[in-house]
Amino acid sequence: MTAISGVGPAREAQLERLGLFTIRDLLWWFPRHYIDCRHPVYVAQAALDELVVVKGRISDVTTTRSRRGQAVVRATITDTSGELPAIWFGQPFMADSLQRPGERLLVGKIRIDRATRQPTLMSATLLTTTGIIPIYSVTKGLTSAAIAKMIATAWYELKKGELVEPWPKEALKAADLPERKKALRWIHNPTNPEQIKAARRRFAFDKLVDLQRGLWAERRSAEGFSGPEIPADVALLKAYRQALPFSLTDGQAAAIWALAQDLATGQASRRLLNGDVGSGKTAVAAAGLLLAAKAGWQSVLLAPTDLLVQQHVATLQKLLGSFDVTVGAVTARQKEWGADILVGTHALWSDGAQYKEVGLIVIDEQHRFGVEQRDKLWNLTGAGQRRPHLLSLSATPIPRSLALTLYGGLDVTRLREKPAGRQPIKTEVVKEGAVWPLLRETIARGEQAYVVCPLIEELELNGLLLDERRTVTAVAEEITGQLPLVRIGVLHGKLAASDKDEVIGQFAAGKLDVLVATTVVEVGVDVPNATLMVIENAERFGIAQLHQLRGRVGRGSQASTCALVVRGGGRAAQQRCQHVASTDDGFLLAEYDLKERGPGELVGLSQSGYQLGFIDELDVELIEAANELAKQLTA
Ligand code: ADP
Ligand code: MG
Repeated sequence: MTAISGVGPAREAQLERLGLFTIRDLLWWFPRHYIDCRHPVYVAQAALDELVVVKGRISDVTTTRSRRGQAVVRATITDTSGELPAIWFGQPFMADSLQRPGERLLVGKIRIDRATRQPTLMSATLLTTTGIIPIYSVTKGLTSAAIAKMIATAWYELKKGELVEPWPKEALKAADLPERKKALRWIHNPTNPEQIKAARRRFAFDKLVDLQRGLWAERRSAEGFSGPEIPADVALLKAYRQALPFSLTDGQAAAIWALAQDLATGQASRRLLNGDVGSGKTAVAAAGLLLAAKAGWQSVLLAPTDLLVQQHVATLQKLLGSFDVTVGAVTARQKEWGADILVGTHALWSDGAQYKEVGLIVIDEQHRFGVEQRDKLWNLTGAGQRRPHLLSLSATPIPRSLALTLYGGLDVTRLREKPAGRQPIKTEVVKEGAVWPLLRETIARGEQAYVVCPLIEELELNGLLLDERRTVTAVAEEITGQLPLVRIGVLHGKLAASDKDEVIGQFAAGKLDVLVATTVVEVGVDVPNATLMVIENAERFGIAQLHQLRGRVGRGSQASTCALVVRGGGRAAQQRCQHVASTDDGFLLAEYDLKERGPGELVGLSQSGYQLGFIDELDVELIEAANELAKQLTA
């Protein structure tokens, strides 16, 4: 990085904190927001509490001191629509900057001034450009402008090869995409929102091609392999069904049958089981594991965390208790290689793995594992030309129209219905204040609650904070302030894995009342006594994520509630949250999502929380084009 002029060791350390190690990393660090300065709003029409760009003459500049001795600069901005007061605290130099004659461009938030009770532009920043300003996510000591400057110089240091277009011209043309170099220019220095949109589509396409290329490669690599012949033992399946503490849904029964037929073919099979959270995928997988075990094969269930491993071991022991099969854990700490069914984490492909002949691999929460990891396990457990069967479980509801394209060549089974007798989760869109009674009542009943906060990114412009969300720590403190006796645990991405497990473990054991967390809690944690899910800044989450998070409650026999706290984001965000509140069906929501957002999203000032990834995965044409190219590339 120090190859870039102006970047010394200190800067380099800051960049590394953002995970940027190479010049390529830096150029692929895309803006999270843009501020569009081309069309300032009239001061008379500027909205409260949102970031606005205004343009006008400055007058009445005064500087006073607050009681604490802080400089307070006041001024008036006038345009053809009217006047707007503005105020700055602790920025005495603003007085001078404002004095210059002519019209000035400012960006800031309008709040009600406590002293005058008037809508007032607070701590705005003066703009010198009239174009679109990219806003980068930053870290301490680094500003968005500094990143923009480094990127501008980094271009010249980037190796030629990095800018070479990797895909054939025809493929880009067919999907109406700019080539790489152009897209890179547009994403960092757009002159209009269409360029931003086109560039984002282009990079989403790259991601999709990579993803689908992996899937096609996987499919193709499976083609030449034979698979263990595991007979579809009808009597055994019947006994399994009878031994279950519940009766299978039709969907589960059909999925088990499809799996049993895969296992019997003698060809290494690959199937994706796509069912909403709580749809009972484990019971389907368990039937396959049982068939394999009884036919004399070892089988493997891969899960992303130690905690999930422990949960699955307990579940399988319960479901298969009467069949005389052994279930063992394989984690960093435990190595029970001798069992018929191995349930483990990535420790499953550690050195010293001791497999017998493996007939079936089940991958829970498949999106948490990379293609290479799956392949590693798959090859490790194979022998000669034989490979185990593979069943991947996914809780991300995918509309039917997308399942085929998104999953390339895999066979997909969907579990549509939920088991009967499930307590519905009541979802409400609430105001901030409504959270306290909910929390209080839940805890008074001896039940537990999750409070989820969005990930925080630092976004600033000339020192003006653009994004005021509260951190998990701040939220936890607030809860302690309101409910002092409540036992609170805090969970976020920066904690070490062992600390995370510890906190989740305590929550699962009922030693904590409230778990305040970022979205790390999304993955398969099962605490039946947790009956309240509060989602802070719900407007920051996409539909799929809200639905996924909500699935953490409603797992026990008590009624559960999900409270979506919306703090902005405009009408669209409100509607999105209302829609999540209106139905509990993940597939319906996914289809709604696809229809509503369609390809791409409007890019503008108020645009928030854009994640390259999910939104663009819903762009059907883009997915199809990427799939087509991926297929060609792996042919
Ligand atoms: P997921 O699909 O999210 O992995 P699980 O397999 O963990 O869901 O199942 C969720 C819960 O539903 C478990 O407690 C399980 O015992 C229960 N369950 C599964 N199938 C049925 C069914 N057919 N009837 C009633 N309860 C079921
Ligand atoms: Mg599960």
